[in-house]
Amino acid sequence: MAADTPDLPHLIREGAQRLRGSGSPSPALDAELLLAHCLGTSRSGLYARAAGVPDPSVLAHWHQCLTERERGKPLAYITGTKEFMGLEFQVDERVLIPRPETELLVELASAWLDRCRKRSPAVADVGTGSGCIALALAHRHARVSVFGVDLSPAALCVAEANRARLRPAGRVSLLSGHLLDPLPQPVDLVVANLPYVKVSEWVNLPNGIRLHEPELALLADTDGLDVIRELLEDLPSHLLRDGAVMLEHGPDQGANVRHLLGGMGCFTVISTQLDLAGRDRCTVGLGHHTPA
Ligand code: GLN
Repeated sequence: MAADTPDLPHLIREGAQRLRGSGSPSPALDAELLLAHCLGTSRSGLYARAAGVPDPSVLAHWHQCLTERERGKPLAYITGTKEFMGLEFQVDERVLIPRPETELLVELASAWLDRCRKRSPAVADVGTGSGCIALALAHRHARVSVFGVDLSPAALCVAEANRARLRPAGRVSLLSGHLLDPLPQPVDLVVANLPYVKVSEWVNLPNGIRLHEPELALLADTDGLDVIRELLEDLPSHLLRDGAVMLEHGPDQGANVRHLLGGMGCFTVISTQLDLAGRDRCTVGLGHHTPA
């Protein structure tokens, strides 16, 4: 086959070359995923049809996707999907792209729900964005009732689309409003991946994040804990006895979040859990009670 015949291996090489030139950290993988997206198949599906030559409309789409990626648009926003907890979520620039480190928060919440003896525990996912945490929990736990809350009505449209697509076993209600305000009832568990990037860190974030992802989902004032602090102020009145809170945060914020939870005097056990990279990532407060 001639070297310039646009069969799939050739296209992948060409795409990887272009993306390498624009400084992408994973050019070959990105090229494969983008081509699979344009062909409406998976990455492994690509290899099953390696000898095929795509038609001109697919090629035009492929070149457009490569250009967007060269300009720094995150891959998930180009393909419109992101895998999280083994589920495929629809994403676009209205929501933060689900991160692998957030799977820790879901695993911790899920283990807590496994241990919970209530028949139908109520959970709040505050700052739900794409709905990835709320929906992953409701997917695994048929008996839970999850309230996914977000300040951004635009983000809730994405969460709504994901709920319709994934049709989780448990009940998920999506509510618009500030932190815990929209909750119709006290809950057993509050999970939250709120904004925690400090203003001083913002300028150092990769362009793909800073220029494309919603600032509302990322940035919090001063030490990055202003939004978490605000949530905690209101938390006791929304959390049932023996309830728990689980908060994602940055690797350097574990001690501060433990300090904030400790100061509330209403949790029996407070601990910070490490993500797969071995960094402080989630702090949990268990055994909610009224301080003596
Ligand atoms: N982990 C995210 C990042 O790397 C931050 C998410 C957040 O602020 N909740 O940008």
